[in-house]
Amino acid sequence: MQRLSNADTENASVQLYVKRDDLIHPAVSGNKWRKLKYNLLDAQARGERAVLTFGGAYSNHLYATAAAGRALGLATIGIVRGLELEAKENPTLRFCREQGMELHFVSRAEYRQKDSVDYLAQLSERFGAPYIVPEGGTTRLALQGVAEMVSEIKEQLGAMPDFIATAAGTGGTAAGILSAGADVLAFSALKGGDFLADDIRQQLDGYTQSGTLSLLTDYHFGGYAKWNEELLDFMHDFAAEFDVRLEQVYTAKMFYGLFDLIKSGCFQRGTTIVAVHTGGLQGALSA
Ligand SMILES: *Cc1c(COP(=O)(O)O)cnc(C)c1O
Repeated sequence: MQRLSNADTENASVQLYVKRDDLIHPAVSGNKWRKLKYNLLDAQARGERAVLTFGGAYSNHLYATAAAGRALGLATIGIVRGLELEAKENPTLRFCREQGMELHFVSRAEYRQKDSVDYLAQLSERFGAPYIVPEGGTTRLALQGVAEMVSEIKEQLGAMPDFIATAAGTGGTAAGILSAGADVLAFSALKGGDFLADDIRQQLDGYTQSGTLSLLTDYHFGGYAKWNEELLDFMHDFAAEFDVRLEQVYTAKMFYGLFDLIKSGCFQRGTTIVAVHTGGLQGALSA
């Protein structure tokens, strides 16, 4: 946990920390490690030999699953969104292949069936009944892993912070933090992120003591994996000021939004915020 203090936090009397989950592991970084932990332990406990999961061309989840599978001796199969990617590989997919992941490219229409029971049954038959982890690794077991991070934060800080901030894609990380009873500031990395409120509520079905969600949907910079010069400048300045690297898909958008809220006086004086560095630095444009 690292304190981030500058003129903006001082003026607002906000105590801001960053939870450096980006430092957990070079390839299985941040929230992907948290979300995979109990899924993969479960796969091992059941004696599974292979794990199948889903992701897009730049998926940090596929990247992390490939590396973790290799480390644990589990075969991995990645269902990748976009038939065109078969011909034009990128560094994320190359890394996955190098870790031994079997990549299977599907059309966007087929990919959309990724949660349908029939489709999953077909995949299971085709790939020899692997252990299936949904897109983003977001399951009940993932929430359990993320909740552990909240326990660490509480212990390291000596108390629960007023807010825990996170970037949101599927909302699984936000849901995991909420499930541990913390109040969450979730910054959508996608355009039109309002759907996340319902998705997160569904993921929390059955949890009784969950915290309060504040969903911020205006810091998407044009949409998922979109960015502009202003965001890259922010990343650069942030690295220079705090010695913390960010990436342009998730974490820079969250910190940009968080500092914007701090500067506009949205928080009561004395508020304590812990922002989670969810990792993903292997996809960073140099800051
Ligand atoms: C996947 C990812 C997220 C989004 O996490 P969700 O649990 O899907 O909301 C945030 N930050 C980074 C760096 C990620 O790789």
